Amino acid sequence: MECKNCKTKLKEIKVKVYGAKNKVLSYQCPKCHYFEFEPESSKKVVEELRETPLKIKQSIIKLSQDRLGIYFNANIVRSLGLKKGEEVLLSVPDKKHILLELQKEN
Ligand SMILES: [Zn+2]
Repeated sequence: MECKNCKTKLKEIKVKVYGAKNKVLSYQCPKCHYFEFEPESSKKVVEELRETPLKIKQSIIKLSQDRLGIYFNANIVRSLGLKKGEEVLLSVPDKKHILLELQKEN
């Protein structure tokens, strides 16, 4: 497979998604940072993660010109012990999911 932007040969990289046993196969361009997920493997991971106990409806808010944000409500903050400035890893397994992984050890 080649990059859609620069035609460089894409690297196959398996991405570990927190909470899922399956890994997502991704294709990454070493030159221009083009990135895509292999649809079958991401579907598997998303299905695995679907059995998550907590689901909350939230609205996306506008932060500035081209930045959007989302609030964590008090329940989530309390149950996860979140603090301002904490770092999270964000991954996007497909076009309908955003996954946040906390960096701290619990
Ligand atoms: Zn490229």
